Amino acid sequence: MVDENSSELHASKREGCICEICHKYFLPNKYHPNQKICSSLECQYQRQLNNMKKWRNRNPKYFRYREARDGSWKATCRERSRKWREKHSDYLKLYRQENRDRHRSYMREYMRAYRKRKEAEKKANENKNANGLQQNDNIEKNGGQGSSGGGSIPE
Ligand SMILES: [Zn+2]
Repeated sequence: MVDENSSELHASKREGCICEICHKYFLPNKYHPNQKICSSLECQYQRQLNNMKKWRNRNPKYFRYREARDGSWKATCRERSRKWREKHSDYLKLYRQENRDRHRSYMREYMRAYRKRKEAEKKANENKNANGLQQNDNIEKNGGQGSSGGGSIPE
């Protein structure tokens, strides 16, 4: 009697189930005897996804409802950040002053990379076209614009 109850083997034969997700045999947790999904991470993750899907199916209007109530979700976010900036305007002013130089050099670097990328894109596009024609075009362009490569940095 005692032997039978304490034996894992006997218990598993009596209470084991097949996982609904991986279809493997498993022993339900003793606190959740009606468990239908094994405790492997993959199956538990899948279970969560399934639950979310079920929940969304049961509450199809939940997200739309929120959007309808608050106006568009984006507007809500914009409003929120506007309010935050209003509330923290002094802090932001200080922050901007302190970071102006850093920001400026950051923007300079950013624009440099941006122009580089644009140039590379342009070259790639030109290479796509007929090579013979484009070569003349390149010479003309370089002659016309010079090699200063400058341009104002928008700030
Ligand atoms: Zn499983």
